[in-house]
Amino acid sequence: MKGLIFSVKRYSIHDGPGIRVTFFMKGCPLSCWWCHNPEGLNPQPEIVEMTEKVGDKEFIKKEEAGSYYAVNEIIDILEKERIFISQSNGGVTFSGGEPMLQQEFLLEALKACKANGYHTAVDTSGYSQIENYKTIIPYTDLFLFDLKHLDDAKHYQFTSVSNTLILRNFKLILDSGKDTHVRIPIVPGFNDDREHLNELKSFLLKVKTENLKKICLLPYHKIGASKYKRFKIPYRMDGVKPPSRERMNELKNFFSETGIKVKIGG
Ligand code: SF4
Repeated sequence: MKGLIFSVKRYSIHDGPGIRVTFFMKGCPLSCWWCHNPEGLNPQPEIVEMTEKVGDKEFIKKEEAGSYYAVNEIIDILEKERIFISQSNGGVTFSGGEPMLQQEFLLEALKACKANGYHTAVDTSGYSQIENYKTIIPYTDLFLFDLKHLDDAKHYQFTSVSNTLILRNFKLILDSGKDTHVRIPIVPGFNDDREHLNELKSFLLKVKTENLKKICLLPYHKIGASKYKRFKIPYRMDGVKPPSRERMNELKNFFSETGIKVKIGG
């Protein structure tokens, strides 16, 4: 069995504790307006055309987005970084895209990582069947779980899916006792109005458990904007300004009132 991966990030420090290797798995059932990884959306390998300028001449360069990896290749990559991983209490993170879209491969990879002594994290939108989460929970040490909007209509409008399943899976994961970091993208005009932020804070206070270790506030940024052209996907965030540092600090203080540790960034 092989998994389709569009990027492998070594020495990652934002996807869980310590130094990690993050595997970005290709394919996502959501279509968030602000997504900064459009190369992770399509569940198939893609050939992307890029224009490169040398002097006044332009060249078309073709690049492949997405390669298949077997589980033993994942382990080989980790083994090369074992010393950094173990000295920093790091591990491996499966991100995307949405890793649960390749649930069978993910399960095998997680089992193999655990068997080889690695701390495992899964970064998920929460959008997959509840049974799929039940199968991976025993092999996952940490969930990085995205919460985008509590209002279903607004969630649907900006991500193309309902949040019902997501909220159900969030509860399942919290009830499992596994360490969880909730990740909230802060997207101006989508989820950062006072009313929604109050709702989100009340919701987190209501569901709060010992294993809900951290709230990560992820400021919207434009870094991925130029990729949209390459992948011929329309970019819908033109004119939206990233939140300022002051605003993010204000939100950090606001969510700290839940008693849960809050961090800006992953
Ligand atoms: S869930 Fe994540 S990867 Fe999927 S579209 Fe949204 S931001 Fe992009």
